[in-house]
Amino acid sequence: MEIKGVCHVHSNYSHDGEISLAELKDYFKNKGFQFLILTEHLHDVSTEKIRQIIDDCRALSESGFKIIPGLELDDNKKHYLIIGIDGSQYSAEDLIKKSSSNKIIVWAHPFFIASPSAAPDHSIDGMEIWNSVYDGKKFPRWGALKLLKKIREKKNIYGFCGLDFHRFSHAGGPYLIMDIENLSSEEILKNLKIGKFSIQRGNIMVEPDGRLSNGRITEVKLYSPLICWFLSFVRLAGRILYALRLKPSKKVKELIRSKI
Ligand SMILES: [Zn+2]
Ligand SMILES: [Zn+2]
Repeated sequence: MEIKGVCHVHSNYSHDGEISLAELKDYFKNKGFQFLILTEHLHDVSTEKIRQIIDDCRALSESGFKIIPGLELDDNKKHYLIIGIDGSQYSAEDLIKKSSSNKIIVWAHPFFIASPSAAPDHSIDGMEIWNSVYDGKKFPRWGALKLLKKIREKKNIYGFCGLDFHRFSHAGGPYLIMDIENLSSEEILKNLKIGKFSIQRGNIMVEPDGRLSNGRITEVKLYSPLICWFLSFVRLAGRILYALRLKPSKKVKELIRSKI
């Protein structure tokens, strides 16, 4: 059966997440998704909290909807999603090490500070080629697709998508789809690890090796840089307003966020 799920979601366990895990589950389940990958900020949660998050993900999961626990950590100004944590490794150093465990390490929003030209030194399973907060909801980032292609010449990593969901205006971005025999978190993680999935939003579909199907290359190449430029401009304007102690109203911020 074909299933779809959202990746890179923050609940209110993270300092900047606004929605509880139970609400998130109801929301995405009602939207027709079968799984959710939770990635709370590591610096917001204690070891005890991580155990609680893992327990909550298990308790809220049901036969038709799975919640996979994960974390997002900052290492030297690069963010990584650690998907499929089991509660046994808690420090950033431990989490970033690939070891033999079956967790999945994804380099999150690689372009959020500067444009990188190579993969980080850490061993990673994938990189976000489409983070809807940093790259926009409508198209994958063209620069990230090119970078993935370059990295894949040497390392077999896959392109992932992420909503970077903190509030409802972050909904509506790309999601993961895959074919699965029985819906279980283990099966989902296995497929993610071996690149047996695709990324989709509307009629845009991206393969995990970064290939765009449906002949949308021209469109992505044309519009993605414009959207990314506009999003950086909005972020810069926000920072300037913040420095001037002027804050755009939440309504305006939400409106902009929900449209791009
Ligand atoms: Zn991040
Ligand atoms: Zn995030």
